[in-house]
Amino acid sequence: MIAELRVRVAALHRELTRYGLVSWTAGNVSARVPGEDLMVIKPSGVSYDDLGPESMVVTDLHGRLVDGDLAPSSDTAAHAYVYRHLPEVGGVAHTHSPYATAWAARGEPIPCVLTMIADEFGGDIPVGPFALIGDDSIGRGIVETLRGSRSPAVLMRNHGPFTVGQDARAAVKAAVLLEDVARTVHFAHQLGTPASIEAHHIDHLYARYQNVYGQ
Ligand SMILES: [Zn+2]
Repeated sequence: MIAELRVRVAALHRELTRYGLVSWTAGNVSARVPGEDLMVIKPSGVSYDDLGPESMVVTDLHGRLVDGDLAPSSDTAAHAYVYRHLPEVGGVAHTHSPYATAWAARGEPIPCVLTMIADEFGGDIPVGPFALIGDDSIGRGIVETLRGSRSPAVLMRNHGPFTVGQDARAAVKAAVLLEDVARTVHFAHQLGTPASIEAHHIDHLYARYQNVYGQ
């Protein structure tokens, strides 16, 4: 299972570059190892071109290295905190994707003014607190914000988005869709005030997309 997750998590990092969500070595994806208190995460400071399955790092859910030749991502503590406190989460992604991060810089939630936002995020995409790296502050801010929302994405204030999902692929999908809607709603804002969607329509769209949509 860990070998398979190394392959999957390494491949998902290529999606971050493919969709233009990351610069240099910023950004990271992790996956919970099902049934164990472990996760697979990106190593710190390695070029995206050099991220293969063998360079992925395995840590416990306190961020302590269990397997791997490289030091884990500097955001490992935040990922670990999320896995410890949100048992339904199987994957976490973090980027500084430009449009979503611009909303984070303003400290403004992205309003639910598109059906795609209702589908994937179930309402406004919330802002989390300002938090410094180094302890559990970022993880706590992510968990406290996501607990009060249906959204799999939180815009950490003055920092950027963290997204979660039932697995790492779902977390990366949320990061991709988040940047897409952040850009579109930004454009809409330049032209005036986007029209809101009534709450009962948001509930209907969210329920349909989460339960019926797809193959
Ligand atoms: Zn960051």
